Amino acid sequence: MPNFDHIKNWVFDLDNTLYPPRHKLFDQIDVNMTNFIMNYLGLPKKEAHVKQIHFYQTYGTTLNGLMEEHGVDPDEFLALVHKIDVSHIPPNVELREQLIRITEERDFNRRIVYTNGTRRHAINVMDALEITDLFDIIIGIRETKFVPKPHKEAFDSFFNMVDINPKTSAMFEDLPKNLIEPEKRGMITVLVQPAEVQHPDSRWAFNGDDTHIQYKTKDLTGFLKSVI
Ligand SMILES: [Mg+2]
Repeated sequence: MPNFDHIKNWVFDLDNTLYPPRHKLFDQIDVNMTNFIMNYLGLPKKEAHVKQIHFYQTYGTTLNGLMEEHGVDPDEFLALVHKIDVSHIPPNVELREQLIRITEERDFNRRIVYTNGTRRHAINVMDALEITDLFDIIIGIRETKFVPKPHKEAFDSFFNMVDINPKTSAMFEDLPKNLIEPEKRGMITVLVQPAEVQHPDSRWAFNGDDTHIQYKTKDLTGFLKSVI
């Protein structure tokens, strides 16, 4: 049984962590990003997709590549790529119950979302799940000055802003590389990765080394049920 007795801050990634990959939101975002590159750079779809993978692998995100190499306005990009349909996502009553339960008996405990997307995207998705009201703090890519996880600077910005002790905090993530920095800082690290799908993002990201991952679960709600 995992020991989370000392944990006061519960930090969750959003995409494919607070909801499962089977909802395929990333697929919609992925298509929007390809479309943006097609329009912005005047490229056919296939070449735009190759560019997109190059940006992601070289700069950590497609956005950073577009900003570095083409001076793209991040707001213009983010507004377009996060225009997605979330109407097929049902409320997650069980997750809601567990999120409440993990903190209810403890003073000063906090639930935090930290995403490489925007706050607006996070709220859009969490509204569908009916869990938005449970989060005290939502940190997105704009708040970390467009530097994404897994970069150290992104976590510097994150910790400066949220002002929490990493040693009393746990991080839940679906991408292994995004748990390297949290583990270095003393957070408990939990990889949330259902076996069902490897979305493109995690396929590109996985490097096989998982010594920085303390716990792995296929089911976030079930895992939360097992702690405390
Ligand atoms: Mg994610």
